[in-house]
Amino acid sequence: MPVTRRKFLQYSAGSAALLGVSLLDNPMLRKAFAAAIQETPIIWLAAGACSGCSVSLLNALSPRIQDVLLDQIVPGHHTELAFHPTVMAAAGDLAMQAMYDTEERPFLLVVEGSVPTKDGGVACEVGEKNGHGITGLEHVLRLGGKAKAVIAIGSCAAFGGIPKAAPNPTGSKGVMEVFKENGIVTPTINLPGCAAHPDWFIGTVAAVLLNGPESVKVDQDGRPEMFYKPLIHDNCPLRGHFDAGRFAEKPGDPFCLYKLGCKGPITHANCPEKKFNGGVNWCIDNRHPCIGCAEPDFPFSQTLAGTVAIADATPPSLYPPILTDQTKPIDVTPAYAALAGAAAGAVGARVFKKDKDADQAAGDGKE
Ligand code: SF4
Ligand code: SF4
Repeated sequence: MPVTRRKFLQYSAGSAALLGVSLLDNPMLRKAFAAAIQETPIIWLAAGACSGCSVSLLNALSPRIQDVLLDQIVPGHHTELAFHPTVMAAAGDLAMQAMYDTEERPFLLVVEGSVPTKDGGVACEVGEKNGHGITGLEHVLRLGGKAKAVIAIGSCAAFGGIPKAAPNPTGSKGVMEVFKENGIVTPTINLPGCAAHPDWFIGTVAAVLLNGPESVKVDQDGRPEMFYKPLIHDNCPLRGHFDAGRFAEKPGDPFCLYKLGCKGPITHANCPEKKFNGGVNWCIDNRHPCIGCAEPDFPFSQTLAGTVAIADATPPSLYPPILTDQTKPIDVTPAYAALAGAAAGAVGARVFKKDKDADQAAGDGKE
């Protein structure tokens, strides 16, 4: 049976989603994706944003964002990333007209930044009409109701992020929360992260454009499972130190960062595998604790240095045994592996019991 170009792209996107890998490492698929993008304009709205997610996206190496989006907004080329306040060449009325023209066609809406809602959202205005500022809230409600699908990129757009942290004087909220309060049911996908990884965005856009938003399997927080399912703690290069009870006591110590406030044990994202800056580095390789930026509760009600509760300190049984004599041959029978896992878990559990007791004592002391 002959396979049409469209079918081929759909199959490819499906495989990419299944494998959790970038669809676009292949130059041929990259070209095909660029063509698919030309069929659907994107409006990128920045509300209560620092533009960090835009900067992160510009850092994409494979494919380079120029290959899939930016080439098309250079003057003289097609303008398919129809509106992006940070990188578009147009400004003022011309830029706003690009948004208004685009929303009359089927389009994909990307929201970066939280949505201030207090007093009608006056804390954030994006452009003006007839001499009056238009709030980010107005744009989000109007465009959100018309879009084919919405991507909330970054922790702020997804869950409110830092602008929503107490006391939240602007009444900032995440996009889904605003939609829910206003009866907007457009399919919406959350890509939290401070900043979000460029592959999370490009992979999601590819799947949405080629197969529709329903094709993206999301978790209970609206995050694509292909990027946000793994627990950082289970894939961390310092996990062996955690299991062995070796903890950094101060920045720069080469051990597990749990006691310095690492949120890896409660954070779901594939950062250890993807890394940032083209795969060069990521938070923990840089000896900085994970701050949990991909989680709905980020930036948390506790301090960044506060330790998180761990439900199960037992390491996965597939890990090689630790604390063994490295000069002896390793017995890899399942029974031995299970025993080693249990022993390592006991070490971890003992450490946390000790920590918990110490914290309790410190807490008691305070009261
Ligand atoms: S607590 Fe943090 S640094 Fe330690 S193993 Fe888990 S994710 Fe890695
Ligand atoms: S490691 Fe943690 S803090 Fe760093 S980007 Fe990933 S989720 Fe965010």
